[in-house]
Amino acid sequence: MTVRLKPGQTIGILGGGQLGRMMAVAAKHMGYRIAVLDPKPDCPCAQVADYHIEAAYDDLEAAEQLNKISDVITYEFENVDLNMANILEKTGKLPQGSLPLEVTQNRQKEKQIAVESGLNVPEYEIVQTFDQVETAIQTIGYPAIIKTITGGYDGKGQMKLNNEEDLSEADTFIAPDSTYIIEAFIPFEQEISVVFTRSQTSDITYFPIAENTHNNQILHQTQIPAAITEKVANQAKEAAKTLAKKLQVVGTFTVELFVKDEQVYINEMAPRPHNSGHYTIEACNVSQFEQHIRAICGLPLLKIQSFPAAIMINILGKHREELLAELPQLYDFHLHDYGKEEARPARKMGHITIIGESLEEIFKRIEENQLPTW
Ligand code: ADP
Ligand code: MG
Repeated sequence: MTVRLKPGQTIGILGGGQLGRMMAVAAKHMGYRIAVLDPKPDCPCAQVADYHIEAAYDDLEAAEQLNKISDVITYEFENVDLNMANILEKTGKLPQGSLPLEVTQNRQKEKQIAVESGLNVPEYEIVQTFDQVETAIQTIGYPAIIKTITGGYDGKGQMKLNNEEDLSEADTFIAPDSTYIIEAFIPFEQEISVVFTRSQTSDITYFPIAENTHNNQILHQTQIPAAITEKVANQAKEAAKTLAKKLQVVGTFTVELFVKDEQVYINEMAPRPHNSGHYTIEACNVSQFEQHIRAICGLPLLKIQSFPAAIMINILGKHREELLAELPQLYDFHLHDYGKEEARPARKMGHITIIGESLEEIFKRIEENQLPTW
């Protein structure tokens, strides 16, 4: 059953962060109303929404309220309560479904789906105790990464094991009654992401593959075009397509991959627009957010056209004050600020995007115009 919305109808968003805000802005251009469910007053999405239900993600009364005012419901992050998503799915108003949430909330399920689909993933083991870490590391070897199986983001809940000396620290890192995944560290040549959108009638459009640089496991910069071969690009897109079918994806979805020796390895997935797709707002004729709204509202997807090159750089809490002080003297880039009050050092506060004819030309402008690149 296809959900179809007309302008004037209401889109409910579970989660009120910057992704919800950018979804809402795209939806507003198309005449939709926005209701957001998020526990935080004045959260980024609430600032641009028509209605804000200020409640916890597992508050079922709030879910009922959201269901009442909304004609379609979407989620903007993967850690919304699965039970709530299941209930909303039954009303027929959640075209994304709850399966992509269930899988992407759990790194073990995510890896299993990739493996079942015949895709490469870093070698991994599931562990609950320090003894199990010690055993796993014997087959996986160093370097390795331990990650909490649920709830981690922006490198939170992760620990890298470079050598045996780090192993003792793993003992304090592993909390009782928690489950972890321990993965081989892939000495990748590049990190890339495939951001795509799938409609309710199974059409898919791909945004240009993005090449990503992380600092301290937080996305720092995204650029297009990714410096990858056609073979790698095809592998990455095929992997995304396979996962899209398997998870019955509707809306914008992201697959993060490592590239090594002309092979791709699935790192993780996000059942929503992604930080590495923010460049699409200015560099493409349709953004990852607009295409997402089109998909969940039952509109045909637009064919994607793109500027030849773009760079997106995140503004974290520790950068923001300096940037804002210099802002009147800076030009030649697009500024996005998410309206967050508390600028914790590693918190994503906004981003800048620079579009151009080639990456070379953009790098030259960054230097000439002394743009902030941190
Ligand atoms: P998060 O949910 O925090 O984004 P990720 O699993 O994507 O978690 O890890 C964050 C970053 O850490 C990745 O983008 C990558 O740079 C690095 N990383 C994570 N796992 C691996 C790995 N197995 N091999 C190499 N680098 C990794
Ligand atoms: Mg990631």
